[in-house]
Amino acid sequence: MKIEIKNARLADDSSRDIRIKNGVIVTTLSGEADVTIDGSRYLVSPALIDPHVHLRVPGQEEKETLETGLSAAVAGGFGSIVCMPNTSPAIDHPELVQKLIRDAEALGLARLFPSAALTVGRNGKHLSDAAALQKAGAVMLTDDGGTNEDAGVLRLALEYAHALGLVVSVHAEDASLRGDGVMNESATSERLGLPGNPVAAEAARIARDLEICALTGSRLHIQHLSSARGLALVRDAKARGLPVTCEVAPHHLTLTDTMLESERFYCDPVLKVAPPLRSATDCAALLEGLRDGTVDCIGTDHAPHTAAEKQHDMKIAPFGIANIEITFPLLYTRFVETGKLELSRLIELMTTGSAKILGWKPPSLEVGSVADISLFDLQSTKTVDSKQFKTKARFDSPWQSEPLRGWAVCTIVRGKIVFDAR
Ligand SMILES: [Zn+2]
Repeated sequence: MKIEIKNARLADDSSRDIRIKNGVIVTTLSGEADVTIDGSRYLVSPALIDPHVHLRVPGQEEKETLETGLSAAVAGGFGSIVCMPNTSPAIDHPELVQKLIRDAEALGLARLFPSAALTVGRNGKHLSDAAALQKAGAVMLTDDGGTNEDAGVLRLALEYAHALGLVVSVHAEDASLRGDGVMNESATSERLGLPGNPVAAEAARIARDLEICALTGSRLHIQHLSSARGLALVRDAKARGLPVTCEVAPHHLTLTDTMLESERFYCDPVLKVAPPLRSATDCAALLEGLRDGTVDCIGTDHAPHTAAEKQHDMKIAPFGIANIEITFPLLYTRFVETGKLELSRLIELMTTGSAKILGWKPPSLEVGSVADISLFDLQSTKTVDSKQFKTKARFDSPWQSEPLRGWAVCTIVRGKIVFDAR
């Protein structure tokens, strides 16, 4: 298929024509384009890359399938995603990795790059076969959801991963400090009588993991960083030259623990997520982290569940928010339109930043690059309506009815239009 995007408006406000043939960006098409797009109406960017998605496959297809998850991804402007291995069974075997890649290829939506479990069954005890998993196509090792309680095991894992050039990602929370906490430990949790999960659980675990990072000299990626304190530790470690990176999720930037006291969200598990939503001060610190480069990328931590599961009370309902379809418009509207974040920085956090975590070369719109491209409409306003989502988690979103701009209107993967809402 030959595609021409005329006068494509780029994140740096320049514009140019982009021509796509045989899946690659080319100088000339030689002949008529099959599809011509007026790029002056849209922001045109390399397709977004999400380093943190829960696809629930295999074993939890009632929450999400490859088709609904990957459809949601491309509807959110993502051309590539990394899925987490906290499935049933855990993705701890090369055949599981290969099957996921094969099945995703057959769907032809977003590209799927599985992460694999760091330990067998994500039990935190016995290392998985990192070399075999990497050979099968795994791009990251993580026990996400699990918290790697045994520091010695994490040290070994980092040493092996270092030799293979694989990144290890950690869900940094101390399990004993987190306890049975279902929300941020704060005056709000006291008033609501809900078990709290203190910032100290995250900060203490990040401090420990940074020591292991320094000891091994291996690449360490901290997932879904949620607190000002945790961010300060990463900032300090980066200043010391440690090979550490971190990501922040959209909910930790835009929602707070006190919302659980509001009329609309009173003790509503739609806001139950791990790590928990923190204070407005933490949100502000994370935004500053996006600006000053301490935060390397946005990871959505898209984590779908069934409506029935989320209808339980705060203590029983599972952790997680489905957000991949609205992450870009949400962050664009909340932060770029209000002048708090440069558009080019937001794009960087969702493309180049994510690529860097994985050791990939920066995605580009230059001639010769693979044609993974997303177009966003920065002008039209549309309100969030979770009933329209492609994800299976179509129940009320924390951002339900919020008017947003910056919705993805077209996603191109390997030169093929895989999502089109123009
Ligand atoms: Zn996690």
